[in-house]
Amino acid sequence: MSLRRDILENPALDVSPKNTVSMKVNPYENARRQFNKAADLMELDQDIRKILSMTNNEIIVHFPVKMDDGRVEMFTGYRVQHNNILGPYKGGLRYHPSIKIDEVKALATWMTWKAAIVRIPFGGAKGGIQIDPARYSPAELERITRRFTYALGNNIGPEYDIPAPDVNTNSQIMAWLLDTYLTTVSPNERQRCIHVVTGKPLEAGGSVGRDKATGQGIVFMIEKWAKEHHFSLNEATCILQGFGKVGSWAARVLKEYGVKLISVEDDTGAIYSYTGIDPDILACYVTSHGGVAGYPDAAAIDHITFLSTEADIFIPAAMENQITLETAPLLNVQLVAEGANGPTDAQGDRILEEKGIEIIPDVLCNAGGVVVSYFEWLQNKRSEFWDLSKVDAKLQQILIQAYEAVQLKVEEYKTDWRTAAYIVALSRLEKVYKERGIFP
Ligand code: NAD
Repeated sequence: MSLRRDILENPALDVSPKNTVSMKVNPYENARRQFNKAADLMELDQDIRKILSMTNNEIIVHFPVKMDDGRVEMFTGYRVQHNNILGPYKGGLRYHPSIKIDEVKALATWMTWKAAIVRIPFGGAKGGIQIDPARYSPAELERITRRFTYALGNNIGPEYDIPAPDVNTNSQIMAWLLDTYLTTVSPNERQRCIHVVTGKPLEAGGSVGRDKATGQGIVFMIEKWAKEHHFSLNEATCILQGFGKVGSWAARVLKEYGVKLISVEDDTGAIYSYTGIDPDILACYVTSHGGVAGYPDAAAIDHITFLSTEADIFIPAAMENQITLETAPLLNVQLVAEGANGPTDAQGDRILEEKGIEIIPDVLCNAGGVVVSYFEWLQNKRSEFWDLSKVDAKLQQILIQAYEAVQLKVEEYKTDWRTAAYIVALSRLEKVYKERGIFP
């Protein structure tokens, strides 16, 4: 493991995750900067640029919920719909205490680009509730979810806006959302509305492969990158931030390729093992202990040591703004495969480029989740059940095509991968707007 002593010995520079929150760039500013860079380079039509630089709808709801002890608490929920020229709005729901409207706007915008890059007929949306779910009982979380769904009303719908899981939400929460939504439609409509949400439990209409889809997609992208670079994944090393739905599955799928997971960080701490951490065993430990802290077969390390760990691949799979002016200089890897949305800000991008670290950007790298959500939506509409080999094969085909489309733009525009991915998305959106025109 190699450490940056200069930074370790500079007490003025605190890059702990807690501190980076105060230094972090507004995620929507980050999203806008990325958009403007690509729009300038490709000379995006000025009128279409105006449309895409704004969100279509920003819904904020305040709603009361009765707690287990009889008190009533007020909650704030969001749903931002960025654009639906390519299809119904689509995007996850996040439960997090620090969620704000600008974060949701950024996440919704990134969803529009992501769907366009992988060529699925969805637009971009995102939502969530400002809440720390760990503070509430399962019964309270159920009532909060149901009341939020009710408050959203017709702002969501199977052909209009389709939520899915994101940070701190899961298939159980999607099942409560589904059930609540269905009670608001007439009984004879219910069966043909179950595609109002994706990421459902299998029995409630979910798709096989949706739980691992984002992680699986990240691995397909890393595998493609490795092939292009004649790089062997067997015995390659990886560090991972976030061991939730995305991160844990990425690590478990990478294990099948012989990749050695040497360090993992989550919101409880960071761990390191030179000989490697078995992600399947770690997943069992995290389920019973609530986080990676205290995992017996690895050493506890701090945040700076985690970021400085020498490895081949870094997968950020937690929150936004983790690779920044302060933290990017610490990284000691060849590839950053972005599992999280918006983990790298503009300064972080610049420093990684200077250091020669390659990036597979979020809008391409983590698109596996929305692609398999699309498969779930299609299966529900057609009353079909696909098997895992079909889901994985179709996912791989779509992601490889997207990777190659972005690669072509990297070469054509001599630009970085993030900007090239944006150019793929914006070119497709521009074409549709030009074909359809602007009403009236
Ligand atoms: P999750 O709630 O299942 O897991 C989040 C993980 O991040 C947890 O391990 C948590 O401990 C960790 N974490 C939170 N704050 C942290 C901090 N400050 N430092 C270190 N670790 C921290 O969420 P998820 O669904 O795995 O989503 C993770 C990221 O991937 C998010 O950016 C999300 O938007 C993105 N994403 C998710 C999906 C999906 O299908 N769930 C799809 C595409 C992108």
